[in-house]
Amino acid sequence: MRGLVTKSTGSWYQVSAEDGLKYDCRIKGKFRTKDIKTTNPIAVGDWVHFEVEPDQASGVINTLEPRKNYIIRKSINLSKQTQIIGANLDQAILVVTLASPPTSLGFIDRFLVTAEAYDIPAIVVFNKLDLFSDEGLEILQEYKAIYENIGYPCYEVSAIEGTNMAAIRDLLKDKVTLVSGHSGVGKSTLVNRIVPGAELRTGNISDWSDQGKHTTTFAEMIDLPFGGKLIDTPGIRELGIVDIERQELSHFFPEMRQLMNKCKFNNCRHLNEPGCVVMDAVEEGLIESSRYDSYLSIYNNEDTRR
Ligand code: GDP
Ligand code: ZN
Repeated sequence: MRGLVTKSTGSWYQVSAEDGLKYDCRIKGKFRTKDIKTTNPIAVGDWVHFEVEPDQASGVINTLEPRKNYIIRKSINLSKQTQIIGANLDQAILVVTLASPPTSLGFIDRFLVTAEAYDIPAIVVFNKLDLFSDEGLEILQEYKAIYENIGYPCYEVSAIEGTNMAAIRDLLKDKVTLVSGHSGVGKSTLVNRIVPGAELRTGNISDWSDQGKHTTTFAEMIDLPFGGKLIDTPGIRELGIVDIERQELSHFFPEMRQLMNKCKFNNCRHLNEPGCVVMDAVEEGLIESSRYDSYLSIYNNEDTRR
């Protein structure tokens, strides 16, 4: 039977099969993603083939179809461990807020670099529009401009008041979208506004397991009534940057990517080299200094997750 993985706990996978039923599946044998070692070889969004067990409710996955793309996170605690949190994505949305709690530009940039590295179109949604004074709204426009100017679509919404929800529905329609963001930015409120009754998990612990054990849910797929699917990542605060060579980092900043062939040295790191057009562009205000700061901090392996 062929099916789509719609929920994953790491050891069990819920598969939405082509017969219209859902099966709790385990993995048979070893699956290994070609380039990276992961704790979960199969992820939400994967298409798999499985054998149905005699109980007609569970199954054993034996084949993983090739992926269009995938996105991973690197565990902060277990530094070497990597999880795939979603596969076959059309786009990734980062929900952010300027206040309560504030999302830093460094965090946004890190997310965008990760999305670039995995070739997944990224969108920034600024939530809690209702909280802003006129001054706050001005700052919001400045932030939006930083990202719109380099090609990332941005939206401003209030999930609580339902402002600009039609635009978000249009954005999500018929696409597979990963939703990410710090806890507290309003992801659940937003998703429940778009899909009433979706019951997005706010914590990171799920009791979904037919053995009655509490296990961490990595991700879960939600069907959108107007077409499309959302992948929610409860408890996953940030996507990890893995396996990006320092030397390649500027490829994942679109505004640097455009310029860097013009630097005097073709292995320019854009740090202090003479004839660096990237640094010139920062100086001239053509590249936002916050973006360049994020470049430096990722380059130097500083923690910009907050
Ligand atoms: P999540 O952790 O990202 O899923 O965030 P929640 O959806 O649980 O929201 C966190 C808090 O922010 C809750 O108290 C929500 O009521 C509040 N919240 C969510 N969206 C908005 C919004 O648009 N405006 C305001 N003022 N509060 C919001
Ligand atoms: Zn340079």
